[in-house]
Parts: sequence; structure tokens; C-alpha cells
Amino acid sequence: MEYHRQLGVSRPQFESLLDGFEHREFRDLEYRHLPDYRSSLDRGTVLIEGDVVAGFPKIPRTLILAEGVPRYFDGELAVEEKLNGYNVRVASVADDRILAFTRSGIVCPFTTHKVKAMLDGLDAFFDDHPELQLCGEIYGPENPYTDHEYPDVDSLAFAAFDVRDRASGDPLPIAKRKDLCRQYDFPEVPFHGVFTPEEAVDALPDLLDELDAEGREGIVMKALDDTQYLKYTTSAANQDDLAHAFDLPFDYGQAFLFRRIIREGFQAIEWEEDEATRRERAHDLGESILLPMLDTIEDVQGGETVGEEHTVRAPSDVIDDLLAHLEGMGLHLRIDEDREADGERVVTFVKETRATNDKIDAYLDGQIVRE
Ligand code: ATP
Ligand code: MG
Repeated sequence: MEYHRQLGVSRPQFESLLDGFEHREFRDLEYRHLPDYRSSLDRGTVLIEGDVVAGFPKIPRTLILAEGVPRYFDGELAVEEKLNGYNVRVASVADDRILAFTRSGIVCPFTTHKVKAMLDGLDAFFDDHPELQLCGEIYGPENPYTDHEYPDVDSLAFAAFDVRDRASGDPLPIAKRKDLCRQYDFPEVPFHGVFTPEEAVDALPDLLDELDAEGREGIVMKALDDTQYLKYTTSAANQDDLAHAFDLPFDYGQAFLFRRIIREGFQAIEWEEDEATRRERAHDLGESILLPMLDTIEDVQGGETVGEEHTVRAPSDVIDDLLAHLEGMGLHLRIDEDREADGERVVTFVKETRATNDKIDAYLDGQIVRE
């Protein structure tokens, strides 16, 4: 079927949407993907050899649970843990090739290898359901994009959170997704139950307290037919993000930082924190902003080039593909360690970020700022 029909738009509409797509190659395949939110299509939409892979929708957020949850959901909702890793959509396209796409619709050679290695049921799933896509989070310390630790994950793990129609992106109801995941042995995100909105408002503070104490990211609430989503994050996650961003202060957008500080503010109000608890939150927030920045300034002062460090573990050719892939995306990599372990290659590399290095150097040299 033609692309515009699969996407559910007219031909002229499709032609005007094409402007937002970028061309890429993966091995012998050429494809196009939509890297941002500019159009009516979801970010990450892919066009590949006549097949469409729908993008993943942006999940809205509430800052006040007690008001936002009843306002957003009419009926029962499922509560799942929000895992802190990266979004992946797995689909069978271009003559039955199983590929893994990251959030913006890029085929990742590392992730494509890993989902096949981690999910034994993948071939059977796509033999039976070539029209579906499997959506999940890849998380754990050894990946090239994020670095949140989980106590039960040494290297890398996958957890499914959605099964959707590949081309339209229409989700299957949660119960159906769970059946399929059981059938094909796909791990799923931790499930915390089904609630009415009122029950959820009662139950969520304790759940979020527990997740927060364990340094976990938060929750995603979903209508049972999976058509409505709402997210909420823990203070641990907000502060973790801030620490991360202030590790490379000039490489993150200021809006990214501001939004996380605002979340902390509304959470403190909703939780009705007393004076002592407010001070503690303020103290922790200040530490997460200032301490990483001081370390970074000192590192640059000492002559180091700073950036985001990642470790990955995979067969040697997969690592070669990954590093070439990242460099092809314009990243500047420095390899800090490259070794063999149990028949695989383990590489630690740094994505060197220009803005932070240059600005800190300039400021340390006494560059005058007019602001
Ligand atoms: P975007 O919405 O564009 O992905 P973002 O960085 O704002 O950008 P997040 O705040 O991380 O995204 O929230 C949405 C992401 O949460 C999803 O894209 C998905 O990768 C991840 N996620 C983790 N756990 C779940 C879950 N249980 N259900 C749905 N999504 C989940
Ligand atoms: Mg995320």
C-alpha cells in the first residue's frame, strides 16, 4: 500500500509532510524518518521500502496528581512503572527484516542486535503478527544513550510497554498486550494495578514514595484500551536529570532544566511538605545542580575534555557498527577503554560535547559576559 494510505493522509498532505523527513541508510536499506514533533505525524515515524512504522506518541504529564488524574481519566486506569532508559520500537519491515528504531525513528544497529539476543520469541511474534510493532524501554547501565542503574540489571534489559499496529500506531488494549507478551515471553514493565481515578489518587502517593526511595523514575498511567496516557515522575528522577544536565551545563537546553525545577515545586506543594521537608528538598535540589557543575568545571580546568560517558557490551562487529553509527550522527567520540570479556567486546566511550568544553574554557580564561 502507498505510504499516504498507510499513514491515513491524502497524497497532497503526504507530500507536504515529506519535508520534515530525513534520509538515512542502514546497511543496504534506505529509509526516511521524522526526527521531531513538527508535523501532525508522531515523532519517529519511519518510511522504509514501502512500509510505515508509526512514531511513538508524546506522553502528557500532570504536575498535580490529585487534580490531573480525575480530570484526565473518565474510567479505570492501569498504573505501570516508568522505566528510565530509551524508547525502542521493534518491527518487521522491508521483506521481514526485524529492526529496532530509537525514539526519532533511526535504526540502531546495537539495539537491533540486542533485542534479537534478548527476546527469544521475537521471530515467532513477527511470523504470527507481521502487522504489529513492539514498543518497550531498553534500560540498564550498558547502553549507548542513557545510564540509569537498576539493582537487578547488570548490563541491559528490555521491558515491553505497548503493542501497536505497525503502520497506524493504534495500540492494543493492555490486557491483549499482556497476553501477547506472556505468549512470546517478552518481559514487561512492572505493573502496579488497575484503579478508578479516585482510588489512584489515594494509592499513588505511597507508591511514588517507594519508587522515589529506590531512585526509580515514576509511573505511566494508561486507560485500559491504551489510548490515553499520563505520566508523573519522582523527585529522585527530577533531581537525577538536573544532576545529569548540570554535568554538561551548556549542552542541555535551559527549558529542560527549568521544567524539572518547576516539577519539584508543584510536588512539594501537593505533598504538603512541612518546613523541615521543604528545606531538605531545597538542599537536595541545590546539590544536584551545583555539585556536578563544580566537578565539570574542575575537570575542564585540569585539561580534560568532558562529555557523556557510556559503556556497551556486544560482539565486536556490532560495536564497530554502533560506533560508526554514532559518528555518522555527528557525535565526537573518545574511546576510553576497549577490552574483551566472555567472548564479547566491552567499550567505554565518551560523547564529547563541544559547547560545555568551549564555554567553560572561555569563562575560565576570563571571557567577559554581558548579560
Ligand atoms: P518523548 O515523550 O518524546 O519520548 P521525553 O524524554 O519527554 O520524550 P519521557 O519523559 O521519558 O519522554 O516519557 C516518555 C517515555 O517514557 C516513552 O517514550 C517511553 O520510552 C518511556 N517509558 C518508560 N516506561 C514506560 C511505560 N510503562 N509506558 C510507556 N512509556 C514508558
Ligand atoms: Mg525516558
